[in-house]
Amino acid sequence: RAKSKGRDIYCIFTPDMYQQALKLLQLENDLKRAIERQEFLVYYQPIVCFETGKISGFEALVRWQHPSLGMVAPADFIPVAEETGLIAIIDTWVLQTACQQLRSWQQQAVIDPQISIGVNISVRLFSHPNLLEIIDQAWRDVNLNPRNLKLEITESAIMDNSEAATTILQILRESNIQLSIDDFGTGYSSLSYLHRFPVNTLKIDKSFVNCLEQSPRNIGLISSIISLAHKMEMKAIAEGIETSEQLTVLRELGCDFGQGYYFSQPLDANSALELLALNHKW
Ligand code: C2E
Ligand code: MG
Ligand code: MG
Ligand code: MG
Repeated sequence: RAKSKGRDIYCIFTPDMYQQALKLLQLENDLKRAIERQEFLVYYQPIVCFETGKISGFEALVRWQHPSLGMVAPADFIPVAEETGLIAIIDTWVLQTACQQLRSWQQQAVIDPQISIGVNISVRLFSHPNLLEIIDQAWRDVNLNPRNLKLEITESAIMDNSEAATTILQILRESNIQLSIDDFGTGYSSLSYLHRFPVNTLKIDKSFVNCLEQSPRNIGLISSIISLAHKMEMKAIAEGIETSEQLTVLRELGCDFGQGYYFSQPLDANSALELLALNHKW
């Protein structure tokens, strides 16, 4: 019961809200069960180097193979997984699986030793007390060179606790792990912190790439992010490239890497290796 302007206003728990709460609870239970039964899968989306035109690595993207709903996209369960803390367990599993997968590709096929694997690290996992051990163990367990591992961290994860974050990022860099800021430009975007963070790459969010051709101002914006990256001795990756026009503009602007449906959708592990074996040049 909330009082406002002298009148009593009753907060009504509508059937709608009840249904929604029920759905969330159901989702949380489903997620817990999914973790126990290992219903998750990792898909791999290629990242293309503009200088060579070839695949330089993959981003690992989680999928949930729900027994009745079918394939569930991260957008439909990651928010709940974040809220309940289950995301740290899921992320750890994705990290281990991705490291293992790349190592297995290295062992079963002749692949470029530079090929890297990018893994998304949620805010929850980034602030986990055992973060460094979890990451260390993931590459050590499968004997993967840490140079091949690239962690994608969002601006919000870093900014939530920027002092501690700087230390953690430094330790990770000292162990030769690569670091990217994911969805760059959509978070806090406080530029004052950037120079303190020892990151290798800025990933330009796909929302900027989407509307790239629509105005000179959009191009100006992307061009500025690319120069910013280069001036800070970082590389720039554009996500969400869907057309050859977008690719052309990004290349002209000096962007270093690209990722998007134009090159390939995220693929299951076998298809990803097949694509890699084609050695296609874009
Ligand atoms: P993200 O890390 O920015 O990943 C890129 C997303 O863009 C992926 O969506 C990918 O499938 C999608 N994408 C790639 N190219 C294109 C394109 O050309 N057009 C469009 N429209 N989309 C494209 P996905 O796999 O649905 O993942 C969405 C988000 O969920 C990711 O965004 C990331 O923030 C999160 N996520 C995915 N996997 C994980 C994970 O294992 N752990 C955590 N913590 N988050 C994850
Ligand atoms: Mg990412
Ligand atoms: Mg991204
Ligand atoms: Mg994004």
